[in-house]
Amino acid sequence: MAGRAYGPSARNALRSGPGADPAMAYVIAETCIDVKDGECTAVCPVDCIYEGGRMFYIHPDECVNCAICVSVCPVDAIFYEDDLPEASKPFIAVNAEFFEDDVTGWGAPGGLTEAFRTDQDHPAVEGWATDPTP
Ligand code: SF4
Ligand code: SF4
Repeated sequence: MAGRAYGPSARNALRSGPGADPAMAYVIAETCIDVKDGECTAVCPVDCIYEGGRMFYIHPDECVNCAICVSVCPVDAIFYEDDLPEASKPFIAVNAEFFEDDVTGWGAPGGLTEAFRTDQDHPAVEGWATDPTP
């Protein structure tokens, strides 16, 4: 994976552009679980989408709200935080907590590298039951 394109101040500048709320981010919801094809990570300009065991997670403080990832997701799993369907709103916390001490403890890695890949998942995702029909 390429090195970081943006430092923290550049990210903040990007996120303060028209229509951007620095407190908001894009979120990956449940339809990524067990699909996890990684298309979004290939296009994210700041490499803020990280791989867990059953899904990918967006780092809420590293996302610059560019929306590029949304267009490549084959299962429409990625939403702007405010636009999440009600049933998927718990995934705001799922994405954020993936980086906290109770899951990976990565904090803010500053961008995806080989050192920040894991088979771990947020507990809500570990136990997520997928549709058993073929
Ligand atoms: S919106 Fe998507 S592609 Fe853009 S920075 Fe956030 S996670 Fe990366
Ligand atoms: S493109 Fe969609 S399904 Fe693929 S890893 Fe990203 S969020 Fe998951």
